[in-house]
Amino acid sequence: MSLLRIENLTNTVADKPILKGLSLTLNAGEIHAIMGPNGAGKSTLAYTLGGRPGYEVTGGSVEFDGQDLFDMEPHERAAAGLFLGFQYPVEIPGVSNLQFLRESLNSQRKARGLDPLSGGEFIKLAKEKAGLLGLDMEMLKRPVNVGFSGGEKKRNEMVQMGILDPKLAILDETDSGLDIDALRVVGEGINAIMRKPDKAVLLITHYQRLLDYVKPDFVHVLAGGRIVKSGGADLALELEREGYAEVLA
Ligand code: ADP
Ligand code: MG
Ligand code: MG
Repeated sequence: MSLLRIENLTNTVADKPILKGLSLTLNAGEIHAIMGPNGAGKSTLAYTLGGRPGYEVTGGSVEFDGQDLFDMEPHERAAAGLFLGFQYPVEIPGVSNLQFLRESLNSQRKARGLDPLSGGEFIKLAKEKAGLLGLDMEMLKRPVNVGFSGGEKKRNEMVQMGILDPKLAILDETDSGLDIDALRVVGEGINAIMRKPDKAVLLITHYQRLLDYVKPDFVHVLAGGRIVKSGGADLALELEREGYAEVLA
């Protein structure tokens, strides 16, 4: 069954049309990568699916796990299993990571009719996921992302993904600002958390290097607000070698 079915999606940002008839389907068990030139609309797609204010849908449809995505409030999308990871994770001074993660998890569990995890159960889960991403538990006691390096923020975001255990993750330039070692750790973390038969990932990336660790089943090129080319993992290598202009010519 398709986890995400985007059909002919159009939108505007500040009255400017950005997505211009974008169609894309992700089935459970699949990892898709979206690449594309600067300003193509990649982040706009992620924000629009997340329901960020200011990203106005003007046409088309999106079905998430059998439901109309645009009928759901952003927190309902998250509770239904949609996770978004952003290029610049937000800092939340005054709120510890552990507090933030536990509240996020338990509010999602509540929306699904599940009991909250106890403090002990939650700490066990957090330790396991932090270990997976090589993030020290001490980092989880600090305020969310405050004073974290770029790499620590990305690891932290992947710990968050591990704890929330979403059905679908849309990751926007999760590889930006990572050094080689962090890239491998984050890549392996994504695989460990999301490479499962009932989950799917949409990986938005400028560069092929993350795809050395997270092998995509499909690669798409987004240009001018729509998917203009699709292929297998080889397409990313071809793009890296020859550039967008050459491949899209
Ligand atoms: P990408 O992530 O592919 O580099 P974006 O989705 O960030 O591209 O941007 C797509 C286009 O939308 C760009 O032309 C950008 O200038 C424009 N855009 C994005 N956000 C805004 C905004 N808040 N106001 C006006 N234009 C925007
Ligand atoms: Mg960009
Ligand atoms: Mg972007």
